[in-house]
Amino acid sequence: MRPEILFPLFAEVSTLKGVGPKVLPLVQKLAGPLVRDVAFLSPAGLVVRRPMTAADAVEGQVGIFEISIDRLIVPSKPGAPIKVRATDATGFVHLIWFGGSAQHIDRLLPRGQTRLVTGKVERFNNEVQIVHPDIFTPQQAGDIPAIEPVYPATQGLTSRVIRKLVQASLQHAPDLPEWQDPAWVAKTRWPGWRAALQRLHAPEAEPDLEPDAPARQRLAYDELFAHQLALARRRRARQITPAPVIHPGDASTRLLASLPFQLTGAQDQAIAEIRRDLASGEQMGRLLQGDVGSGKTAVAALALADAAASGFQSALMAPTEILARQHFQRIAPMMEAAGVSAVLLTGRDTPAERRTRLAALASGEAQVAIGTHALFQDAVRFDRLALAVIDEQHRFGVNERQRLQAKGDPRTGGVHLLTMSATPIPRTLELTQYGELEVSRLTEKPPGRTPVTTAVLPLARIGEVAKRLKAAIDGGAQAYWICPLVAESEASDLAAAEARAADLRRILKVEVGLAHGQMPGAEREAVMADFADGRIPLLVATTVVEVGVDVPNATIMVIEHADRFGLAQLHQLRGRVGRGAKASACILLYGGGDDGLGETAKTRLETLRRTEDGFEIAEEDFRLRGGGDPLGLKQSGFPAYRFADPIRHRALMLTAADDARLVLGRDPDLTSPRGEAVKVLEALFDWRNDRPGID
Ligand code: ADP
Ligand code: MG
Repeated sequence: MRPEILFPLFAEVSTLKGVGPKVLPLVQKLAGPLVRDVAFLSPAGLVVRRPMTAADAVEGQVGIFEISIDRLIVPSKPGAPIKVRATDATGFVHLIWFGGSAQHIDRLLPRGQTRLVTGKVERFNNEVQIVHPDIFTPQQAGDIPAIEPVYPATQGLTSRVIRKLVQASLQHAPDLPEWQDPAWVAKTRWPGWRAALQRLHAPEAEPDLEPDAPARQRLAYDELFAHQLALARRRRARQITPAPVIHPGDASTRLLASLPFQLTGAQDQAIAEIRRDLASGEQMGRLLQGDVGSGKTAVAALALADAAASGFQSALMAPTEILARQHFQRIAPMMEAAGVSAVLLTGRDTPAERRTRLAALASGEAQVAIGTHALFQDAVRFDRLALAVIDEQHRFGVNERQRLQAKGDPRTGGVHLLTMSATPIPRTLELTQYGELEVSRLTEKPPGRTPVTTAVLPLARIGEVAKRLKAAIDGGAQAYWICPLVAESEASDLAAAEARAADLRRILKVEVGLAHGQMPGAEREAVMADFADGRIPLLVATTVVEVGVDVPNATIMVIEHADRFGLAQLHQLRGRVGRGAKASACILLYGGGDDGLGETAKTRLETLRRTEDGFEIAEEDFRLRGGGDPLGLKQSGFPAYRFADPIRHRALMLTAADDARLVLGRDPDLTSPRGEAVKVLEALFDWRNDRPGID
């Protein structure tokens, strides 16, 4: 339901003055379907126009010249520009057109007449020239803006046309009630919403274009706040869904006692947070974030045991067969110690196995199910499912997760959700991608892990690396060798990986497995399994090395062309080693021959050598990418913000998230005066469920 006050802004863009049938599809494509979308375009630059004469014209600046037309010079060769020679009291100015019709230009600039022309001053053969000038009659002098915002033009839509449309759209922008906290607005000295929008479109100097200009900050904050509100509301909607009350019991105690280690402080805290959710009677939605090896399994296992202790069933779903099996191998003994019965469910079970396991789940005899996509198939029925744990949620579709959660018993309420991710992500990304979930972070590694020694070497030293690799393998070690995948040509990347595998086979005289993305899944998993079981000492792979695969005997990781990977990705890859008691090494090979390593690339690889803290690496990676990698941001699941820049406005995003929680906490139904205003803001940005960042 949209507040009436917003109707003018939500009118179709076709209602704007100046939008005819030709322009309409172009504006729709550039901005969107609504007047609001045009008003929300941001200028990317500005022009300052200064009156000039032919004699004092400054190259590179935009001048306004009062000239009289001397003559038209029609090109003799096709393709040469059309010129008009014009004069003022101090000299000549040449006006230049590439293309266009001489007749038209002649009509526009009749000989002997006076005109005002404006455009960027260039010098050619020592003469002042303006390419494609804007032309005004002396009567129109007042129409020439001294300062003008520049919009990113597109095919068929010049910045000037966009500016006119934007100005028209601003006529539709009403005064809206203030939705921000008055104290906050006073403190920041930001303009009100409408003033900020007007100011956005009327920059006076370069600093007005910067993300920290007050008007831009205000609009960015409004947008972030609206987004966080939408997420917070979804969080609330989940929280008011009743769910089974789960308390730790004997099974949990037995499990804890059976663990051969003490939980880390971070694990303790995560479990406490999960237990608070599970006992609340409200549906849990929590993300457990922690690097590979941070000990997520024990935390999840305790939650599974808690559910069993309270008489409920739970399911743990992993994205691949091999991961599901590993989870089962490691969790089944813990469940046994706890006195909880667990079954494995994957696509490879024999029909007989499948029948028995399904029956055990349907009857409630099996309390825990661990498996793959097989878990959410229709044939799978639970007696009283209360908790779904999902490993690497981003590898599943929203539907798939929901299908599993839908297997709960409606009479006991919603199914609690715990998702686990081994990919540390920056706070800002966490807020947008998982804003709907509460987050527990395992920031502390279990003790006794040997740190991985990381070396950064030029590819030229590959021979040396191979020699050391040979020695290590002869001593019983296992190693990964990663070849990069550069999306442009998968075929040649694959060829490179195959060639590398052949090289290593020849040089090292050991068996070398090859795993890559174009292999059929089953074949790839077979190779991975051979490596995991120690039958192959060296695995050459493109980046398909599964997250979470645990091969404690693998102690060496060589990454070729490390400079082509993202930091977070390198960190992930490095996490494959250092999982056992033995010392591990990661060798980052950069460059391919003569090309040196750029400063940023050096800083990036240096970060990896300095730290193994995944959260620190994620923040650094994100920061280093700057605003310059929109594709990367999109891939990481960022919603399409109009005003906000997740990097430059990082601090604002964190504040907006707190603010949204606070507002909804105090006024859940938004009935206070500020609440009413907040509803207008939400409608203004209209974050819908089909937008990225909200699933
Ligand atoms: P993750 O799933 O987060 O990658 P795991 O749960 O597989 O990490 O744990 C990695 C290893 O650390 C496992 O061998 C596990 O038994 C061990 N481990 C977990 N918690 C602790 C702890 N508190 N102290 C010592 N070792 C631990
Ligand atoms: Mg794990």
